[in-house]
Amino acid sequence: MNFLAIDIGGTKFTLALFDASGRITHRQSRATDRDGGPRWMAARFPEIVASWGVSAIDAIGIGFGGPVNYAAQSVVLSTHVGGWEGFDLVGEVRRTFGAPVLMDNDANVGALGEGLHGAGFGFRPLFYMTLSTGIGGGILTEHGVYRGADSYAGEIGHLTIRPDGPDCLCGANGCFERMCCGLWLERDNGRTVPELLAGPAFVQDYAVNLSLGLKAAIMLLNPARIVIGGGIAKAGNTLFVPLRHELRRRITAWSKARVDVVPAALGDDSVLYGAFELALQAKEMNP
Ligand SMILES: [Zn+2]
Repeated sequence: MNFLAIDIGGTKFTLALFDASGRITHRQSRATDRDGGPRWMAARFPEIVASWGVSAIDAIGIGFGGPVNYAAQSVVLSTHVGGWEGFDLVGEVRRTFGAPVLMDNDANVGALGEGLHGAGFGFRPLFYMTLSTGIGGGILTEHGVYRGADSYAGEIGHLTIRPDGPDCLCGANGCFERMCCGLWLERDNGRTVPELLAGPAFVQDYAVNLSLGLKAAIMLLNPARIVIGGGIAKAGNTLFVPLRHELRRRITAWSKARVDVVPAALGDDSVLYGAFELALQAKEMNP
């Protein structure tokens, strides 16, 4: 059995082939062509799979870097590049490979990956957050991904943490993402995130802003664990030690809610493993 996992981000997309036991047998990443748009990208998928010498795909899972209407299996929009609105990605991929497809936004898919194969294994409810170019959140309960009424649950990136903060791309201001994501950290400070994280004063301020956002997840969900993925989480203890300290200090004193916050265990592959799980579900629904 061949399961195809597709991770579509803002700057690159990755395809990985899983066997039935959950082992990655092939993988390839490509830069996103901003001018080519979704049609260009979708045409690359069969080329990449053919280059692996694989003839048949049994099912496909897609983690998309933007809001997805899960019930309709449609992309709402890409927050990074244009041209995705109204593009039937799932239909296109299904017709290309002649196999069932399931898609969700990449934070939900990352939650599935870490929850079933990574640092969130056995922890429910699990709150998963990506901390990279942007910020996304996914909630995994014992019944699966919690998506809310309209597929928008877990969108912690646009929670207001600084009401007098700078304008966010979403139209509000002082959003968690505006204050804490890699894109804005680098634009605001004129330095790369690794450079910034080498400064103790920066890390302290950053831990405060991160804890303001994550406090909401803890107070609302009382998660058994929070797993943070994405490039910035690779900073490890430099970031997680002050973050845990700041969170404990800020969680309301009477609350004994646990503060269990750890980096993702699957590194760059959280979304791929989650997409593999989506492919398994797609196969189960279309035996
Ligand atoms: Zn915003």
